[in-house]
Amino acid sequence: MSMDITFLGTGSAYPSPTRGASALVIRSEGECWLFDCGEGTQTQFMKSHLKAGRITKIFITHLHGDHFFGLPGLLCTINLQSSSTTSKQPVDIYGPLGLRNFIWRTLELSHTQLLFPYVVHELVPTPDQCPTEEFKELSYMDRDEVISKEVQGRTLHLDPVENAYTLVNNQQFVMKAFRLFHRIPSFGFLVEEQQRTGKLNAQKLKDLGIQPGPIYGKLKNGVTIVLENGVIISPSDVLDEPIPGRKICILGDCSGVVGDEAMKLCYKADLLVHEATLDDTQMDKAKEHGHSTPKMAAEFAKLCKVKKLVLTHFSQRYKPAGQIGEGDIDVMALKRQAESVLNGQEVTLAEDFMTIEIPGKKQK
Ligand SMILES: [Zn+2]
Ligand SMILES: [Zn+2]
Repeated sequence: MSMDITFLGTGSAYPSPTRGASALVIRSEGECWLFDCGEGTQTQFMKSHLKAGRITKIFITHLHGDHFFGLPGLLCTINLQSSSTTSKQPVDIYGPLGLRNFIWRTLELSHTQLLFPYVVHELVPTPDQCPTEEFKELSYMDRDEVISKEVQGRTLHLDPVENAYTLVNNQQFVMKAFRLFHRIPSFGFLVEEQQRTGKLNAQKLKDLGIQPGPIYGKLKNGVTIVLENGVIISPSDVLDEPIPGRKICILGDCSGVVGDEAMKLCYKADLLVHEATLDDTQMDKAKEHGHSTPKMAAEFAKLCKVKKLVLTHFSQRYKPAGQIGEGDIDVMALKRQAESVLNGQEVTLAEDFMTIEIPGKKQK
């Protein structure tokens, strides 16, 4: 199964001609999962090889405008492209408390009638995710009414045992949210493929005298078998080690994580997307605004032993390579700063429309 990630916006604060506002897409089996939807995301989609109509899930890390002001417009455009006759699966939208109300109000005020169903699942943050004076109690915005095409979503509280929010857990994937510290509550998301059953080991089957037939399928599906001679064969006797799934972690704006769960969830991730708004010489300013620098991102990546670190959400002052004008700062300085923490392990700087393949894993 192919899986890749495409950056549609890699700039912070606002979209510019060189960097769109935050948005990235994980594509798996033709489905698109959008992470953040800054202003202009729909035009970034059109300029890319991706199709907005393929979006089945949307994840919003936090409610700063540069991460979700593109959402109503994108939903309206998907609406124009869909038809009332074809039944479309609901689009699942996950994000912080308040997002449901925002979507409802914008659609209501603009008299927008969506032709496809959508569901908003809200994450309830905890007060330690931002400075005390910035924490807003938004539950008063709750309402019981649901507009046309809105399917009532879940309100997810932090699981006190797991210290995370489980969003999806199906046969193929586990998706979770975890807490980050920012000027307002922010979240990181984990997307992990379920591990796959190992292959039947031909030699072991032969040694046990098991002939090819339907029995192979049963063992592969985890069924314990009793042979004619009364010998019991459990699947683990004849299967190779399970094949681990791919793990991608995407962090919203942050100057750090809340609790140690983020580290556990990101442990040995194949790909970690971390913000680096400012370079290391501006660390105090970055922290003051709830942001990270390359060093801070790389230290987290090192702690988690991630295989690949990708930096994004750059201040618009850092121009992409090849687009540096007079007075601009080359973004490559941020790459060097991160790599020096990771002892030379290569760090990728995200650019708009960059796609990174996540290759499937083999047997351990
Ligand atoms: Zn931001
Ligand atoms: Zn922010």
